[in-house]
Amino acid sequence: MTVAPSFRVLRCASCHVHFLPRPGLCPKCGSRSVRPELISPAGRVLAATELHGPPAEGAAPHRIALVELSGGVRVLAVAPGRLPALGETVEVAAVGDHVELRSEPETSG
Ligand SMILES: [Zn+2]
Repeated sequence: MTVAPSFRVLRCASCHVHFLPRPGLCPKCGSRSVRPELISPAGRVLAATELHGPPAEGAAPHRIALVELSGGVRVLAVAPGRLPALGETVEVAAVGDHVELRSEPETSG
């Protein structure tokens, strides 16, 4: 399955690494030559946890997942649904000032 690129990152024109948008230089080689690029929103869950003490403006339980996208870009995403499993393939989307898991992970039964 191919997913259309929709997740905005920056790409270094010098060493070609992808990284999350932030001010400053390429975190790998220090080049100032970086530009926006869209990559696939599909990624793999590296870690996930459920917090029962929610952030100030959040609801409990608050589920978050660390997701690795193509090129090794890692994002911390809020999981509105159930807690995803480790290694599961999910999609992410930028929503306001944070990232959310967009597709509800498949249920195992
Ligand atoms: Zn670079």
